[in-house]
Amino acid sequence: MADVPAECNIKVLCRFRPLNQSEIIRGDQFLPKFQGDDTVTVGGKSFMFDRVFPTNTTQEQVYNTCAKQIVKDVLSGYNGTIFAYGQTSSGKTHTMEGKLHDPHQMGIIPRIAEDIFNHIFAMDENLEFHIKVSYFEIYMDKIRDLLDVTKTNLSVHEDKNRVPFVKGCTERFVSSPDEVMDVIDEGKSNRHVAVTNMNEHSSRSHSIFLINIKQEHVETEQKLCGKLYLVDLAGSEKVSKTGAAGAVLDEAKNINKSLSALGNVISALAEGTKSHVPYRDSKMTRILQDSLGGNCRTTMFICCSPSSYNDAETKSTLMFGQRAK
Ligand code: ADP
Ligand code: MG
Repeated sequence: MADVPAECNIKVLCRFRPLNQSEIIRGDQFLPKFQGDDTVTVGGKSFMFDRVFPTNTTQEQVYNTCAKQIVKDVLSGYNGTIFAYGQTSSGKTHTMEGKLHDPHQMGIIPRIAEDIFNHIFAMDENLEFHIKVSYFEIYMDKIRDLLDVTKTNLSVHEDKNRVPFVKGCTERFVSSPDEVMDVIDEGKSNRHVAVTNMNEHSSRSHSIFLINIKQEHVETEQKLCGKLYLVDLAGSEKVSKTGAAGAVLDEAKNINKSLSALGNVISALAEGTKSHVPYRDSKMTRILQDSLGGNCRTTMFICCSPSSYNDAETKSTLMFGQRAK
């Protein structure tokens, strides 16, 4: 599989998961028709992306096609963000994390962790690396540290260079892929402890894993910094399907607001005009401000269900992805 062309800094990739067991048993139809490697047709309407991954695409193919280059770029001093967008159960977490300790089924984050250290071991011995990771989630517009359960409402500040950051968020130095995996495991188990229904919770919060890489030449003292945000977004489904009220409705409104703020930022960036980019409309877009657009590497995975049952959601997910083109 060839690499996605590099001329545009916002790439939108679409991935369809296979029909699952219960969809097959229910007799759901398989909707998408794939044409070439960049077009998918659903219900007579065609959608074009930088790349479309049909259901049989492996985790390794996904990684090699679109995340591998970002690792090289971040090690060269660029910032980047990789998102997964889609309704609950469309394959976001599968794409971003997959099965963390399974070499075939692991997703983008563990592969990035391995790749970073492979690159570093092959680089100039005179370069000293400091790699830090953070792991937090945004739920109901509150930022919660997944590496310190006592920090449940962190705020976004700007440093002296006006670069936004989550103030007080735990940072862990890591020196091997295994240490990165340990941090992810720790964050995930904290998240489990904090909530009663993990599946419901994860579908309503954005989880953000940040990798910060600083390198310094021991002789010249020349420094280079790059960071990469890896974002597993809250489920994009419309709430009407479940007929929600009260707290669930508040959650849904909150998610809609933050996802549309993200969509607005991405589409303003994609238009490439010098027009106003509304970063300040949500906490997430504020945090990501210096890692989206411009010189940054931005990749959005549009994750879709192939089932006729999810027809309407799939179309609206695909439309969201088109706005970024
Ligand atoms: P989300 O995070 O969007 O809610 P998940 O990533 O948890 O969805 O995926 C839902 C289920 O579908 C999981 O059991 C996952 O393993 C499976 N799945 C998702 N994408 C794929 C895929 N491309 N190939 C095989 N199974 C997948
Ligand atoms: Mg998920």
